[in-house]
Amino acid sequence: TLDCKIVVVGGGTAGCAAAAALSQKFPEQVAIVEPAIVHHNQPMWTLVGAGIKRLEETRRAMAAVLPSQAQWVRSSLKEVCPERNFLVTTDMQRINYDYLVMACGLSIDYSAIKGLPDALATPYVSTNYSPTLCAKTWDCLQRLESGNAVFTYPTGPVKCGGAGQKITYMAEDYFRTTGKRDNITVTYNTALPRIFGAAYYADALEPMCAQRGIQVNLGLDLVEVRSASREAVFKKVGAIEGLMEVVQTYDFLHVVPKQAPHAFLKDSDLVDSTGFVDVNPSTLQHSKHQNVFALGDCSNLPTSKTAAAVSAQLPVLLQSLQAVIEEREPMAVYNGYTSCPITTRKGKVMMCEFDYQGMPCETFPGLDQRKESKLMWFVKTVALPYSYWNILLKGWAPWRQIPRRISQIGKPNTP
Ligand code: FAD
Repeated sequence: TLDCKIVVVGGGTAGCAAAAALSQKFPEQVAIVEPAIVHHNQPMWTLVGAGIKRLEETRRAMAAVLPSQAQWVRSSLKEVCPERNFLVTTDMQRINYDYLVMACGLSIDYSAIKGLPDALATPYVSTNYSPTLCAKTWDCLQRLESGNAVFTYPTGPVKCGGAGQKITYMAEDYFRTTGKRDNITVTYNTALPRIFGAAYYADALEPMCAQRGIQVNLGLDLVEVRSASREAVFKKVGAIEGLMEVVQTYDFLHVVPKQAPHAFLKDSDLVDSTGFVDVNPSTLQHSKHQNVFALGDCSNLPTSKTAAAVSAQLPVLLQSLQAVIEEREPMAVYNGYTSCPITTRKGKVMMCEFDYQGMPCETFPGLDQRKESKLMWFVKTVALPYSYWNILLKGWAPWRQIPRRISQIGKPNTP
């Protein structure tokens, strides 16, 4: 049995950042439960899939990124008993806590799409959602000379809602600059009713696709991959089972797999009916258990699940937790800030930033962020990877708040 003031479950983006900040404040009183020995910078996987970065640049030893002032329990959470303030790991360690921070991400379910696991083993199908496959995406794009390149986006919860279209645009640009574009059709099939959740940016992305000859099909959800005949089977969203199937043949297929909350949380008292940890959308405090908090992909915060969102959630989480420790009401407010740097072509990014309402919530003064920008490419490929490892994972959160307040002057949706 281990007794801890604060336990953080998960050492990914959110858990590592939270544990770093908390262990600076409460040295030797924080434990992190995390089974993996490698930490992945997932936002960089898009750049690996497009041949911009090497896979090695996206990963570091977990031991090197977790804060040294916290205790790493190298195991997985099995179950939590929030009524009695303890949890049990899969190797049957019991950890008692005063405060619990849930940051265990979500789970990817490749087998939720029929035939996908087998198809991913063929040379024609890949996904940037996997550290073992994102480099394959780039191999596929280089090999493809002609035919149909098909890109998908599913129903259900998805981390980084833009990742499916980022690789679509990067592929289309690569085909064009290498003279292959005339022989390749580029199709983006999304289960959503619009190309992007935030209308402000969708308004700019839709004409760009039309102009570049990217066929966008709305309301199509990939349900099966028949790898023998290289067919992707889509269901029209909202249609009756078996009816309204659309079958497309592919020469390259990029899949955003189905994603779901972790099964080990399903029967716990921590989750809502969707299976995500049930927290107050403003304060990140659990709706029932006052000493429990969540941030990142495992939470039910109704915003797009991104590392950028974690960077805005972190200062709120820290303030809320501090308030509860001091027996005050948590007052800090998270507005749903999230960001999606859409790589529209090699050398250009559209920096989408928005809040719970899908309203723009932008950082860069004097810039129309709906325009594709070279500066934002620099931000995405250099500044953000640097700040991921050296600022966010170190738990330095307040930096995110101050410059944004200043920079939002004169911007759309300025509070
Ligand atoms: P994760 O970072 O996934 O961490 C979860 C951790 O929990 C893992 O370390 C895991 O091992 C651990 N865990 C799992 N089960 C257990 C258990 N039982 N017990 C204990 N620990 C457990 N975000 C952006 O901001 N910008 C982008 O451009 C961007 N692009 C992306 C592109 C791709 C292809 C992908 C996949 C993601 C992208 N994201 C982007 C999203 C971003 O990576 C995630 O939203 C972010 O990493 C979420 O952090 P997290 O800590 O909640 O989850």
